[in-house]
Amino acid sequence: MAEKPEVIVIGAGPAGLTAGWELVKRDVPVTVLEGDSTVGGISRTAEREGWRFDIGGHRFFTKVPEVEALWHEILPDEDFLMRPRSSRIMYNGKLFDYPLRAGNALRGLGVLEAVRCILSYAWARVRPPQDQTKFEGWVAARFGWRLYGIFFKTYTEKVWGVPANTIEADWAAQRIKNLSLLNAIVNAVMPKRNQKDIASLIEEFQYPKHGPGMMWEAAADKISKRGGKIVFEEKVRRIHHADGRATGVTTVVTGGYGPGAGAPEASRTDIGSEHRYSGDEIISSMSFSSLIRVMDPPAPDHVLAAANALRYRDFLTVALVVPESAGFPDNWIYVHSPELLVGRIQNFASWSPFLVKEGRTCLGMEYFVFEGDETWSMPDEDLIALASKELAQLGLVPADQVERGFVVRMPKAYPFYDADYKKNVEIMRGWLAEAAPNVHPVGRNGMHRYNNQDHSMYTALLTVQNLVDGAEHDVWGVNVEEDYHEEVSPGYAKAPR
Ligand SMILES: Cc1cc2nc3c(=O)[nH]c(=O)nc-3n(C[C@H](O)[C@H](O)[C@H](O)COP(=O)(O)OP(=O)(O)OC[C@H]3O[C@@H](n4cnc5c(N)ncnc54)[C@H](O)[C@@H]3O)c2cc1C
Repeated sequence: MAEKPEVIVIGAGPAGLTAGWELVKRDVPVTVLEGDSTVGGISRTAEREGWRFDIGGHRFFTKVPEVEALWHEILPDEDFLMRPRSSRIMYNGKLFDYPLRAGNALRGLGVLEAVRCILSYAWARVRPPQDQTKFEGWVAARFGWRLYGIFFKTYTEKVWGVPANTIEADWAAQRIKNLSLLNAIVNAVMPKRNQKDIASLIEEFQYPKHGPGMMWEAAADKISKRGGKIVFEEKVRRIHHADGRATGVTTVVTGGYGPGAGAPEASRTDIGSEHRYSGDEIISSMSFSSLIRVMDPPAPDHVLAAANALRYRDFLTVALVVPESAGFPDNWIYVHSPELLVGRIQNFASWSPFLVKEGRTCLGMEYFVFEGDETWSMPDEDLIALASKELAQLGLVPADQVERGFVVRMPKAYPFYDADYKKNVEIMRGWLAEAAPNVHPVGRNGMHRYNNQDHSMYTALLTVQNLVDGAEHDVWGVNVEEDYHEEVSPGYAKAPR
């Protein structure tokens, strides 16, 4: 390999752009290949008719100093806002603080239910659930069965679309690691202790004033200005390898994924044509399962079977423009009510005043779905009607006050942690390390890790240090167990984002 390798980076999300930026800083020739017509991946900011909104709502919070430094290297300080975090759970027509605060939760539930919850917690302390390897047992052991049923089960099942007793505990452990009902009570009594130790209690975060996409637009700009190449609307269709090394990739021109994915219209006219790129090293943030599937010649059957067994949960958001007065002070509200499909509602005005327009706000009604299921496949008009109806059912905004709606679908939003995912990832890693050790998986879906932006970026940063600076970091060792994660489930200490 030449002293300065030619590097191909797959994907222009946080991980791919981090790799691109770190490489051009070192004067390494790089080509970033992005299937869509926009930057940012899941962390993009969608733009429709001048309204800007996130896929979820992306907090910038990290305990990794290198990533913190990178954020401020990419965006000037004046482009960051420091936002207070505020979120609540809607349950049974009432709003509860989230992260759960013992006093607030028990008061809101009423004396009788509160006593039941405390007794149930005491019982779980005396007789802990036998199986704590699954989400259900893990949470019940820390909060008691009753609180688990009220605040954790329904939302978690909405997020993942499967019974909570089939979800691995890893996911809960990652986000609510240090929290239990006992800790929550201690926090309520001694609110000043260092709450950053507990992922679920992060109380403020940084946010680029025009949304996270602003960060990735700036990163792409910097990469191009330093001579890096970013190619849009080309999806990697094959990764060629021979004699134990990858030699390059073939892409197909997609024309972008279009407005349904929150991307601008296609700019390319050569849709369907193929292009070949050569490289000495390939840094990949495309999903790990797709990466294995595009290896050419193909991976052996058992490796392909492992790749095909990895699953994802997909996501769509219906952004509704409503009068500002109809907004709420929270960044988001978790919706536990099982009779409604919506899982969470963002108020983008609470994220940044720069995202909304005079007198109006934009609410993101979030639906956790499987790609191709009934909700995913609904026409946009029907989704807007559904979201408007559910917003009214929640008593938040009458349907006739919804001025406008936009739908953004995001496939593979959440890598699924099922009972076999670790084993499958091991099989895929093992084969890749032999067949093409110069292909380096990074990022969230790239490594099938429930990484936030910071860890997605960190894996890319460490990979570049390994490739160019001669470092020997264990990239797979980047700690996903640390919390302060997006929140997926409101019942938990923090809900998933
Ligand atoms: C609802 C939600 C809320 C979140 N909230 C937060 C938060 O508050 N804070 C936080 O830090 N993180 C949050 N995250 C996590 C964050 O979005 C991810 O960590 C981050 O986007 C992962 O970056 P990535 O570059 O690894 O992957 P991605 O963002 O998935 O980017 C991958 C890119 O690769 C491209 N690509 C895929 N396949 C190919 C191919 N074959 N060829 C070419 N290009 C390809 C994709 O189009 C995409 O642009 C949230 C995630 C979700 C789903």
